[in-house]
Amino acid sequence: MAVCGSGSIKVTDLVVLRSVGRTRSLHTWSATAALRPAFRGTMSSTVLRWFSTLSLSVNQLGRLPWLLDSLPSLPAPQGTVEASEVPSLFREPYILSGYRPVGQDWGCYFLSLFQRHNELLNVWTHLLTVPLVLLRSWAFAGAQGLTLGPTCLPLLFYVLSALTYLSFSTAAHLLQSHSELAHYSLFFLDYVGVGVYQYGCALAHYFYGSEVEWRETVVGALYLPGAALFAWLSCAGCCFAKLRYRRPYPLWRKVCQLVPTGLAYMLVISPVAHRLAIGSWNEPTLTLHALQVVFFLLAAVFFSCPLPERLFPGCCDIVGHAHQVFHILLSLCTLCQQEALLKDFLVQQHTMLQVHGEVQLLLACASFPVLVFCCAVTAGAMRSSMQRQLRLKQE
Ligand SMILES: [Zn+2]
Repeated sequence: MAVCGSGSIKVTDLVVLRSVGRTRSLHTWSATAALRPAFRGTMSSTVLRWFSTLSLSVNQLGRLPWLLDSLPSLPAPQGTVEASEVPSLFREPYILSGYRPVGQDWGCYFLSLFQRHNELLNVWTHLLTVPLVLLRSWAFAGAQGLTLGPTCLPLLFYVLSALTYLSFSTAAHLLQSHSELAHYSLFFLDYVGVGVYQYGCALAHYFYGSEVEWRETVVGALYLPGAALFAWLSCAGCCFAKLRYRRPYPLWRKVCQLVPTGLAYMLVISPVAHRLAIGSWNEPTLTLHALQVVFFLLAAVFFSCPLPERLFPGCCDIVGHAHQVFHILLSLCTLCQQEALLKDFLVQQHTMLQVHGEVQLLLACASFPVLVFCCAVTAGAMRSSMQRQLRLKQE
């Protein structure tokens, strides 16, 4: 046993250290330490602890190849293919290549997060927005010392709704190529996220972002039940259009998708539009609200028109097609909206209960899980219907 100062190195440690070529540096350290008795006690115990940890790590590293061998091997995603090699359901207009083959293991689609394919940026654009929304909410709640109470509930539901649409969209784009049923099921889930997000926005806009003059109008009086109805109609309309129409899609498909979502947006944004119409755009909060409107309208344009891939078919397969631009603009819309609503919350939080009444606030918030349930049941029913159709097709 080699003794040095008040600490000691076990023989096993020295064997391990020698095995990684560290014995000489240990001797050098021992000689140096001997020349400084004042520091010897504390330094030796610290360094010995470090060496001890190192020897443990080296021992574990030595066992690593055996551990890696015993782990199940990861699935390897197949290379991407041309549009003609996947069923028409999975093809996108003017996107000619970069498709993941259908029918691989689920693990291959999870690992395609790191593979080059035409859905990659659709996945990452929404996936990366999730931690941004989460961390901003976390930092705000910490800085303001927020505790969960009635005044925070619309903000909480807004954040949950944003995280819901972002994560459901990520899952849909990442995993949809697994099978026809997975494709339909995951996009029905994506549409649940759309409806839930619309109603989360409506609650936050109404309680934090509306003026009393607007709330006294007919639109203001019918706003929350109307927003809940249109949010459900958006989810149901998008699911129905997906279930009903096959490629090449007729115009009615876009009508079923865009009319309820467009009407829902016009209603949901109306308290903000009213403030923008009567307020001064120099206020930072109104500038952020103006930005969320601009980003959403631009996002709607790219959702409706397959630009630029229509002009340059095959050139935007991996990077630059309209759905990716739509995702980026929608993420920017959400980030600006969140920032604006956090500022609105700081202004409104102390007077909310007097202005709206606690019962109305709690009733409105109770309608949020009801809306989530209705959207989930609708999507579930559409999935069952599609499952029956696919089973009949196979028979
Ligand atoms: Zn998408």
